Amino acid sequence: MVKSFVRPVIIVSQCLSFARVRYNGEVIPNQFIEQLSSYVNFVPVCPEVAAGLGAPRDPVRLVQKKGETAPSLLQPATGVDATEAVKNFSWNFDVPSDPDGIILKGKSPTCGLTDAKVYAGSEQGAMVNERGEGLFTKEIRHRFPEAVVEDDGRLRNFELREHFLKQIFTNADLKERMSTFQGEHVKQAIDQHWYLLNSCNPDLATELQKTYKNIQGLLDINRLNDIQQMLQACLSHKPTKSTFIHVFERMAHTVQQHLSQPEKQHFYDTLSRYENNKLPRYTLMEVIRMWAVRFQQHDLLKQSFFQPYPESLVELNDSGKGRAL
Ligand code: SF4
Repeated sequence: MVKSFVRPVIIVSQCLSFARVRYNGEVIPNQFIEQLSSYVNFVPVCPEVAAGLGAPRDPVRLVQKKGETAPSLLQPATGVDATEAVKNFSWNFDVPSDPDGIILKGKSPTCGLTDAKVYAGSEQGAMVNERGEGLFTKEIRHRFPEAVVEDDGRLRNFELREHFLKQIFTNADLKERMSTFQGEHVKQAIDQHWYLLNSCNPDLATELQKTYKNIQGLLDINRLNDIQQMLQACLSHKPTKSTFIHVFERMAHTVQQHLSQPEKQHFYDTLSRYENNKLPRYTLMEVIRMWAVRFQQHDLLKQSFFQPYPESLVELNDSGKGRAL
């Protein structure tokens, strides 16, 4: 059966596959974004074009002026200071609902995530003092602190891409379920994402379950916000090999009464091979999923852990820098 997913809302730098808005009038093709467009609602924006700089345009740079606390966004060839225009745009452009994620073009003085150059001056030959967030990045993170933020370079890494996908699709699903304000729906959501939450942070997942075990009835907005913050805090932790092993053991425990001794032994041998990097994680997932089907374990089968985002997004080639844990 094909699983359906709630479509996350994602703000994206418009030069990534959407429009020729770069300073040189080019667009940067991005395979991941093109594949993702079938499953998410993108909000493409170019803050520099929105600030009236046009495309193509003379390049801008971040300049740390003496005596000022934050860098300004300047266009050295024209003397234009685009700082206020980009800030205004960042806080005021239309988004259909609070975004689940943001994908930025790395290295840009406007959209860079961690690697935007900050110059000591706007003259040619001025030194680069440091690298940090682009101007738009800084503003948009303040405007939407709950959105998961990544850049195009980091998303070439398999592990980071997978973690980003898990977070945006799970957050979108949780938000939709919570939109009813019903405690029972919140509990169902926590149950369905239970093993996924455990793979991110078992301690926070347990705390969540304890806190909301008997939740019911109509919830007020403050309570919902608390729950959402706890869920997002849990999901923000990147799974590790040991958290995955913890989850596999707990899942296997739920079917152990149906297993023969040789099957149990085979499972622990497989787990040990996974622990020692001899087998990929997906092998173990399929063993447990097969048991869930065979023993009609509906609580296991409904778990988002098995498929937290659309399957076709897994088929992308790895960069070689990140491997599935
Ligand atoms: S990096 Fe940002 S500001 Fe630069 S072209 Fe892309 S969207 Fe526009």
